[in-house]
Amino acid sequence: MNDFTSKCSTSVDGQKNCIYCSNKCVKNGSAYGKQRYLCKSCKRCFINTYDYNGYDPTINNSIKEHLKEGCGIRSISRLLKISVTTVLRRIKKIAKGITKPIIAMGKEYELDELCTYVREKNNQLWVAYAIRKDTKEVIDFAVGRRTNNTLKQITDTLILSNAVKVYTDKLKQYGTLLPTSIHSTKRNGTNHIERKNLTLRTHLKRLSRRTICFSRSTSILSACLKIYFWA
Ligand SMILES: [Zn+2]
Repeated sequence: MNDFTSKCSTSVDGQKNCIYCSNKCVKNGSAYGKQRYLCKSCKRCFINTYDYNGYDPTINNSIKEHLKEGCGIRSISRLLKISVTTVLRRIKKIAKGITKPIIAMGKEYELDELCTYVREKNNQLWVAYAIRKDTKEVIDFAVGRRTNNTLKQITDTLILSNAVKVYTDKLKQYGTLLPTSIHSTKRNGTNHIERKNLTLRTHLKRLSRRTICFSRSTSILSACLKIYFWA
C-alpha cells in the first residue's frame, strides 16, 4: 500500500465519487484486473489504486509541495516513487500552467540578482528577480547569463509598470538600466529581498546540482522558480 491508495471517497452505499470533480461515478469495466470508474459529469476515467504513482492524478500536487519544501528532483523521485524523468516532465508541465501575476502600477520594488550555476561551476548564471516592497510578492524573475540582458528583462518590466522606486544593491549595471529618478541603492533598501535570497539559496543550490545537462537544466531551473514563486 502506498500514500495514494484510497484517494477516492466511497459513500455508505458503495457509491464512488469522482477524484477530479467529486460527482457520482459508475463502474466502467476493468483494466488489468482492476475496477475502472467513469465519471458521469466530467467523463474522465480512473481506478482505485495506481500501481505506478506517476499515473496518479494527485501526483502533481505532491510534486509541487515537495518542491516548495526544498526537495531536489532526486529526492522527490525517491519519496514519491516515480522516475526522475517523470518528475522533470511534470515540473515542466506544472510550470507551463502557471501565469505571471499581474503587476500593479506605481509601486516600490526591491530588485536583486543571485549567482548560481548549472552543471559546472563554469556555467555561471544569474537569477534576477524583483519583489514588491509592501507585499513582498515576487513579481517577475529572469534566468540567464551574467549579462545586462538578464537584468534588463526585469528592469524593463519595472519601468513599464511605472515603478516609483527601485531599490537595488550597488552592482553598477543597474545604474545604466534604471533611470536615476527611480533608482536607489541606499543602505537597507534591499533588506527584504536579501532575506528572501537566503531561503531561495538553499533551494536553488539543490536544483542546480541535480540537473542532467546544461540546456535542459536552465529550463528546469526556471520551471522550479516559477512553481516556487507563484504556484
Ligand atoms: Zn468527474
